[in-house]
Amino acid sequence: MSEPVADGIHRIQVPTPFAVGRVNVYLIEDEPLTLVDAGPNSGTSYNELTNGLAALGHALEEIELVVLTHQHIDHLGLVSLVAERSGAGVAAIDAAVPFVENYSEEAQKDDEFARSVMLRNGIPEDVVSALSSVSQAFRAWGHRADVTRVLHDGEALELRDRVLRVHHRPGHSPTDTIFHDSERRVLLAADHLLGHISSNPLITRPTDGSSERPQALVAYLRSLEQTRAMDVDLVLPGHGDPISDHRTLIDERFALHRRRAEKIHRLIAEGPRTAYEIAQALWGNIAVTQAYLTLSEVLGHVDLLTNDGRVLEVDRDGVSVFELAG
Ligand SMILES: [Zn+2]
Repeated sequence: MSEPVADGIHRIQVPTPFAVGRVNVYLIEDEPLTLVDAGPNSGTSYNELTNGLAALGHALEEIELVVLTHQHIDHLGLVSLVAERSGAGVAAIDAAVPFVENYSEEAQKDDEFARSVMLRNGIPEDVVSALSSVSQAFRAWGHRADVTRVLHDGEALELRDRVLRVHHRPGHSPTDTIFHDSERRVLLAADHLLGHISSNPLITRPTDGSSERPQALVAYLRSLEQTRAMDVDLVLPGHGDPISDHRTLIDERFALHRRRAEKIHRLIAEGPRTAYEIAQALWGNIAVTQAYLTLSEVLGHVDLLTNDGRVLEVDRDGVSVFELAG
């Protein structure tokens, strides 16, 4: 499954075991021959990636550079195998390097952090334990890799025939990186902007040593604002089809998050609630696998309300309860 999506760029849709479905891997026909992301670490994904490349007249062994968009395992898992088979270099933004190079330890620490955030926000022990097991089981879909080219926000990644400007756009993950070809007005945006679903602002362990829960949605909206200001004709996302009008889509996302924040404000106005109770009120009985995603959604919007001085976080026996301010 491979198709041209922009001048010199082909999309190969690689399967994943996740609810999001297939992940987009992009082949940039240039020098070096470049892949943007690689898919998750599985035999099926590897075969489909290899077949996708073959349909474009390339062997996997010809890949010279793999560029990583962020730390999530549906994008990262196959990077090391591709690099090993082809001898390709691996480029990733500085913020992603510790995670990519120490994948198992970092993923373990992330799980522990997620556990504490879930318990703090009223998710029952049995749900938290079940989700930890699921997360452990999925661990093997990721894999560590050596980063041979460390990228920095604002720098240019130069290929023979094009320049990709590197921008750090944290929010969906702390390491989201987008690549801008200003000459062709094309933006490789990965999961920073998706057409068919809103990107989840996943609450992720801070790596600066602070113990504060990061405000992922606040960071994400700031990042979206920066992307909205960019002049591009085509956005190539990490899942789903290319996006041709990014400003309209971003405005829809802003409106969605405003509406959701207001809805949560109304729920809190009915009476103090934990983030888990808010998630249940919004989405009913939540599948275990979705517990952390929905919690991240709720906390992101609660952060907006808290920052506006409309909601207060109160401690009740070690669990955070949200109530109206004033
Ligand atoms: Zn993804």
